[in-house]
Amino acid sequence: MCDVVTAPRRPALRRGARLGLLLLAAVLAWAPDASPQAPARPRLLMVTYSGGYQHDVVRRASPDRRSLAEQTAEDLGAQSGAFDVTRLYSREDVERLSADIFTKVRAVLFYTTGAPPFRPEVRQALLRFVQRGGGFVGVHCATDTWYEVPEYGELVGAYFDGHPWTQRVRLVVEDPTHSSTKHLGPGFEITDEIYQFRSWSRDKVHVLLRLDPSSVDVGKGKRADQDYALSWIRHHGRGRVFYTALGHGREVWEDERFRRHLLEGIRWAIGAR
Ligand SMILES: [Zn+2]
Repeated sequence: MCDVVTAPRRPALRRGARLGLLLLAAVLAWAPDASPQAPARPRLLMVTYSGGYQHDVVRRASPDRRSLAEQTAEDLGAQSGAFDVTRLYSREDVERLSADIFTKVRAVLFYTTGAPPFRPEVRQALLRFVQRGGGFVGVHCATDTWYEVPEYGELVGAYFDGHPWTQRVRLVVEDPTHSSTKHLGPGFEITDEIYQFRSWSRDKVHVLLRLDPSSVDVGKGKRADQDYALSWIRHHGRGRVFYTALGHGREVWEDERFRRHLLEGIRWAIGAR
């Protein structure tokens, strides 16, 4: 008799359980949309257009692959959680950029040569973006760029004027308190292509790294004062500019000391540190 009484209830319970499972599934399917979105990371616009000499570190093996420099920036941003990267590489990438990109990014990084073919209003928007508080990161040949745009030279702090030395050199850390240099100690040795500059003045920048002139044949350089700064920061209007002359070759981009120098320089320019 018990079986007779309970038997009809089993389908009812099973129906209830099925309904519960369906409801649970519906809630689970719906829940991700209802949860608050994680705040978006700051975005870095990385420009590696080469109008003149193209360095190996920014060459893509194929159009849809990342160069070593692009991959490094993406890895640094992702591993630190500090930023995401939007990449501009080809002439077409640069030509089709519109000025509203600067409402979507917190800093711009240039590893460029020659004249990146921004439309005139977009180039003006970039200069205005930094004046109004955006970040700018110049790496190595960013100073070998836009010679015909003096406002750009002022922004980055100098123009390239040859590279007298490609060898192992000693660098002096002038400011060991900055986040981009404090891991480097009082000085360090590195093998790289070493730039000299024109249209550069200590009055306009805060020097982070300089060449130790006793580590090279200083007679190859042009400066009577032997003052070869290789990384600096400056304020440009309300914006922050970080420049490092390092980064010619692959071995530098794979060097942990350079990677941290660059990561912290980007973070400083974004304003996160
Ligand atoms: Zn170079």
